[in-house]
Amino acid sequence: MRSSAYRGRFAPSPTGPLHAGSLVAALASWLDARAHHGKWLVRIEDIDPPRCPAGADTVILQQLTQCGLIPDEPPTWQSQRHSHYATALAQLQDAQLAYPCGCTRKDIEAAWTHMGLTHARHIERPYPGTCRDGLHGKTARSWRFALEKYISSWPQSEDRQIQTAPFCIKDGLLCWQDRRLGTEQQRPADVAGDFVLQRADGLYAYQLAVVVDDALQDITHVVRGEDLTDNTPRQLLLQHALGLPHPTYMHTPLVRMPDGEKLSKQHGAPPLDVSCPLQALNAAAICLELPAVCPETTMTDALAQWVNIWQGIYNVPRD
Ligand code: GLU
Repeated sequence: MRSSAYRGRFAPSPTGPLHAGSLVAALASWLDARAHHGKWLVRIEDIDPPRCPAGADTVILQQLTQCGLIPDEPPTWQSQRHSHYATALAQLQDAQLAYPCGCTRKDIEAAWTHMGLTHARHIERPYPGTCRDGLHGKTARSWRFALEKYISSWPQSEDRQIQTAPFCIKDGLLCWQDRRLGTEQQRPADVAGDFVLQRADGLYAYQLAVVVDDALQDITHVVRGEDLTDNTPRQLLLQHALGLPHPTYMHTPLVRMPDGEKLSKQHGAPPLDVSCPLQALNAAAICLELPAVCPETTMTDALAQWVNIWQGIYNVPRD
């Protein structure tokens, strides 16, 4: 059966050019869209301008084009969509699901210390909830999602099955299905807590922007790197709170450095070399457990072969 309503996307943050790891996510989302005879969109997630050097978006779009990954609609830029995020935030404020927070990072770290938690920067700690019941004389800096309140009000009688619903919550444990990883679970209150929707500098947070854009662009299938898996429960909850549809999720393998660390720009990943696109695509394909093609293969043939194999691996109906 041809699922023409399929809409997927690749949503890079233009903090620099694509590297070998970002091409894996780009290729996977493109293959999945083609395997479903669907549309593939590119959304430039320049929501945090100080982190986005000028021109990185152009380089990313060129790198994708050189690898034969061409979006079916003109790309969009999050920096031009603030009004949509403001509307969603207002909706959450009206529903009493967003509250102002006056905490600085120092205040939050002090609260963790008070709770006996260390504040190692690489460990994500949930917000300690200081401003949940009011600002206590502090000035509002950011806006947070009332996640703990939302989860604790989840109807316990609503025992939805994971097979038929995109996710279920029981006793604070959220379970959802990832198309590649299978059943995943997380206690969002322990991992994220009441997370930020709008930052102290006025910028909208990734969690809010991504949920709003996925819905406004009618994205039905999210295919992205495994490093984002932990964000999915926050996004499912926000979608539910905003009355938005839930896309399906698939998280793809990461390219790792010899020390096991994820390849990333922060860890010195070199820009993707697209002087020989087939070589770059072959490396990405291998990471996705697809067979490398021989050097004589044209890029079009290589992509077509991988689409075919992808349909078999992920049980996508061929027609
Ligand atoms: N912009 C995010 C990143 O580059 C990806 C967002 C997503 O795919 O949901 O890490």
